[in-house]
Amino acid sequence: MKRDQPFRDADVVKRYIQAIHDITDQPWTIMEICGGQTHAFLRHGIDTLLPPDITLLHGPGCPVCVTPIDKIDKAIELAQQPDIMLCSFGDMVRVPGSREDLLSVKSRGGDVRIVYSPTDALKLARQHPDKQVVFFGIGFETTAPANAMAVLGAQSEQLNNFSVLTSQVRVPPAIRAILSSDDCRVNGFLAAGHVCTVMGYHEYTPLAKAFKTPMVVTGFEPVDLVQGMLMCIRQLREGRYEVENPYKRSVTEAGNRPAQQALLNVFERVDQTWRGIGVIPDSGLALRDQYAAFDAEKKFQLKNMSIREETDCMSGLVLQGLKKPTDCPCFADSCTPEHPLGATMVSSEGACAAYYRYRKR
Ligand code: SF4
Repeated sequence: MKRDQPFRDADVVKRYIQAIHDITDQPWTIMEICGGQTHAFLRHGIDTLLPPDITLLHGPGCPVCVTPIDKIDKAIELAQQPDIMLCSFGDMVRVPGSREDLLSVKSRGGDVRIVYSPTDALKLARQHPDKQVVFFGIGFETTAPANAMAVLGAQSEQLNNFSVLTSQVRVPPAIRAILSSDDCRVNGFLAAGHVCTVMGYHEYTPLAKAFKTPMVVTGFEPVDLVQGMLMCIRQLREGRYEVENPYKRSVTEAGNRPAQQALLNVFERVDQTWRGIGVIPDSGLALRDQYAAFDAEKKFQLKNMSIREETDCMSGLVLQGLKKPTDCPCFADSCTPEHPLGATMVSSEGACAAYYRYRKR
């Protein structure tokens, strides 16, 4: 039996769904932070099984979607240099920058490589000493430790042809920003299990208390999702505002301490721009000064450029749970995965891509 098979058991899912129906006696709005969970909800049709009083909102937890446009423009500028090899995750190459995307640069002969991890980029740096290899390191706390380890590895190997263009973001400040908004409709959160695997959930407890908002650490399988939903609604009915963790097979309150230490050694907290949302204080991770030699922005003296956002795209509102993808007039019309106007239609964790794939009207 595969490890996750019990968490895909249809009878167990049905029992949880029935329990949710039994206790839901008023409208509740629940946000899943993570785009992976958004896709899982829609892929398994769980959203269609929930009581009509339950509204799912999709959060900003898509690393590709929230990477600010100026970072994409900088990646494009680097990829246009003849001596630079720009390494990126696959989704990222099709995300529109101000004027074009990385794929267009690649089609014109730019050396843009798709990699699956920073380790792949390090390997390329070893194999191509004649090239400057830049890894486009984006993502949440889940990917930051691996990026930190790549920098430490490059330093110990004295690889002077490796650097990272970073756009790393942190979840707790984003939750704070969402809950602080006057437009906030969120009653409860499903916290992202993989982020909590690394960071634990101790940072969430003060947020749950301060904003009187229950949070349940939730995995990605159907049973995880419906169990998390039931626990969240139970808390709401009982007037409790706690962090609960049914995802114990992966998450502890403290999290993965060695991974956190690697992250802290290499990165420091900074204010960070989230695409479509704006600056969220303390929500980013930038390379510390002692690793400036591996910071692509410093190494190649990249200047801030004037950016141009696609005006028809409302992905910022989608990422904050203020609009559904199907509310956008461009959805499945002028905006499709083949011709995306925004990152949320490109990314494998983007909410617009999820609705297009599983709920296309
Ligand atoms: S459907 Fe396209 S244009 Fe509309 S919000 Fe989503 S990505 Fe942006």
